[in-house]
Amino acid sequence: MKIENILQKLIKLKGDGSDSQERYGINYEDGTFMMHQFCWCEREDCPWCNGEILPQMFRDDAEIQECENAPNFWYKPTNFKLWWYKYIGRGMTQNMALSKYAYKQMKKDLKKLKDVSGENNVESINDN
Ligand SMILES: [Zn+2]
Repeated sequence: MKIENILQKLIKLKGDGSDSQERYGINYEDGTFMMHQFCWCEREDCPWCNGEILPQMFRDDAEIQECENAPNFWYKPTNFKLWWYKYIGRGMTQNMALSKYAYKQMKKDLKKLKDVSGENNVESINDN
């Protein structure tokens, strides 16, 4: 049960298949998942660098602290959030423990995404 498995599945489904995306992640958001590459633009209005100014998608989330930088990965149904430093797997922090329930839900939702995108990918997503 590793969160990296989930991240890589999402990258595979929604990314361009490049090595750099495997390392850095992708910028992607739907109603369930959000992923954003580590950002070091240092612009004042960047929610990933300076979390004081929140993008619209975070404003409705009362649990978000105004000073919190936007996460690099957010699983909206359970509010699981993950931050990393530049590369996936490096200096990762998360806002809560990854529960077995959340992990299973993520896999289900990834499978839905895969079905919707209609890709003929035979690799099984059930890896446990
Ligand atoms: Zn930035």
